[in-house]
Amino acid sequence: MAFGEFDLIDTYFTQRSKQRPDVVIGVGDDGAVVSLPERSELVIVTDTMVADVHFDSDTPARALGHKIVAVNLSDLAAMGAEPAWISLAVTLPEVDHEWLTDFAAGLREICDYYGCQLIGGDTTQGPLSLTVTAHGVVPAGSAIKRAGARPGDWIYLSGPLGDAGLALAARQQKVKLTNEHYKRVTDRLYFPSPRVALGQSLRGIASSAIDISDGLAADLGHIIKASGVGARVTLEAVPLSLPLTESVSQERALELALVSGDDYELCFTVPEARRGVFDTLIAHSPTKPICIGRITSETGKLKLELEGEPWELPEAGNGFQHFSQRK
Ligand SMILES: [Mg+2]
Repeated sequence: MAFGEFDLIDTYFTQRSKQRPDVVIGVGDDGAVVSLPERSELVIVTDTMVADVHFDSDTPARALGHKIVAVNLSDLAAMGAEPAWISLAVTLPEVDHEWLTDFAAGLREICDYYGCQLIGGDTTQGPLSLTVTAHGVVPAGSAIKRAGARPGDWIYLSGPLGDAGLALAARQQKVKLTNEHYKRVTDRLYFPSPRVALGQSLRGIASSAIDISDGLAADLGHIIKASGVGARVTLEAVPLSLPLTESVSQERALELALVSGDDYELCFTVPEARRGVFDTLIAHSPTKPICIGRITSETGKLKLELEGEPWELPEAGNGFQHFSQRK
């Protein structure tokens, strides 16, 4: 079978997918054409995943199809955008029918679930590498940025951290898990859930937001740097999952939560003046974000505290830190 890009994209990726009415021209022409709602802006994100760099080569194809879309939708969620269209560039060592069928199924399932449509793509031959560009829509001027946090704002997390890092540590036999825990954390590593609905509901409420792809310490670090502020985090408030707390010490659980990344929860800040509106919003939401600290005026300082005492991240090379996802 030839590596004709339209053959592959058309055969595996566009059939049986849900179609959006705003796609004027989809796959099959030199470019896609879409219509935008009035007074809206486009948010565009791109993420690449390379075999043996961002994922192990034995990762199931269906998981890869899900995840390459999920990581992009997570970036859209952090911007408060509604996902609309994606394009896909895939480099494959060979045309493997079974692999492509499973990969396309994973990709289609998550696209259909979040109502976004594949509108173009390219396939080439080479070492396995996946790139998705996702396009989302926001009302003009309403995208949530990293740069809006102000001293006094409350810091929230959308859900528990550390499961993806725990799954990696278990796969590398650095920690032993029960079958049930292993299955649960591997699911979180392979099939992350981008916080799409929450991200959109934070428009006009959150002063800044980011998704946790590199670990809380690094990603909250991006917010304070972009905003020119500092942050104080109460570590006992950081949500940790049952598999994590039941499998490793509190010290290591916190380390995984802070540095391992790949969790795709949202970290965001809410000004005191909008806290009431926010509490009302989450009272009716299936996601229950948790307050983990407060923005300070100490520019560039990320202060971690456990039970009132300062807490330092272990040096790189100790504990789990070096088992975190390679970047
Ligand atoms: Mg991101």
